Amino acid sequence: MKKLLLTGAVLMAIFSSAQKKYVLVMHGGAGTITRESMSAEKENAYRAKLAEALKAGYAEIQNGNTAVNAVSAAIVVLEDSPLFNAGRGAVFTHDAKNEMDAAIMYGKDKTAGAVAGVHTIKNPIKAALAVMQQSEHVMLSGRGAEEFAQEKGLAIMLPSYFWTKERFDGLQHILKKEKADSLKKTIQNAVLSSYETDQKFGTVGAVALDKSGNLAAGTSTGGMTNKKWNRIGDSPIIGAGTYADSLVGVSGTGWGEYFIRATAARTLAAKMEYQNKDIQTAAKETITEIEKLGGDGGLIALDRNGNIAMPFNTAGMYRGAVTEDGEIFIEIYK
Ligand code: ASP
Repeated sequence: MKKLLLTGAVLMAIFSSAQKKYVLVMHGGAGTITRESMSAEKENAYRAKLAEALKAGYAEIQNGNTAVNAVSAAIVVLEDSPLFNAGRGAVFTHDAKNEMDAAIMYGKDKTAGAVAGVHTIKNPIKAALAVMQQSEHVMLSGRGAEEFAQEKGLAIMLPSYFWTKERFDGLQHILKKEKADSLKKTIQNAVLSSYETDQKFGTVGAVALDKSGNLAAGTSTGGMTNKKWNRIGDSPIIGAGTYADSLVGVSGTGWGEYFIRATAARTLAAKMEYQNKDIQTAAKETITEIEKLGGDGGLIALDRNGNIAMPFNTAGMYRGAVTEDGEIFIEIYK
């Protein structure tokens, strides 16, 4: 136990070390992730997938490709894994569908692309990238976004591709609880309370800094279990769950409604831009603002000098980063 704690402390010291220059930081969602609720096998699986994603993004940077390519490559790895609430492992809506949102932004010229409420696109982050690079728009939604993705040659899947037992069971659990609570609560409260019972948020995000000194940020999610009425969260909304400019890139995860109301990602960047705050202070203050509103979650941020911040107010957040030398760090708990 003592050894474990020491390792954690040493890792924390490495993470907050100002000397190291980071080129990629990622999250795999924040939530009620505790050591007690995690088996060694499961933890290893999450760590391995995060490492694979970090390596994929790092390879893009090493090859001299843009931060946008690095973010996309890293996120695709997690979208293709059933472990995370994005792409393949997306959570279910109230009607037992998988409805995904994603966004990407390039700090160099503040171009951005996003898709919301899509059911069939294998890699929503690629669709967001296509919106950014191959359309005159920033955000497409629903059927139109799917048609656009197909037109651009992106992989389109049958609904069964996104079906995973764990996510389906998660929906059944919430539906049962909702039924039991329905006499006591209004419909809206039932939807919100269902978010609180979802213990694995699992949204994924990445921020990269390329060799030209440009930043990019991206986020991809299935949103929240049991969502209704084509609810859209913060992830695809530029300035809420995703943002990048020439100073900093940000990706959030958590209770999306609060990130939208706090304009979380842009708030962090504005604190740096207008108040000259360092990334750690700006990130921490942003989470505090979300907490004051009653929300929870976390975020990752990377600035143009290679400094990172990864604050969260939940029990855990899957997170990791790579230095310019290719050193990989992964953490899960507080
Ligand atoms: N922020 C996402 C949403 O509200 C969910 C998450 O990060 O877990 O859609």
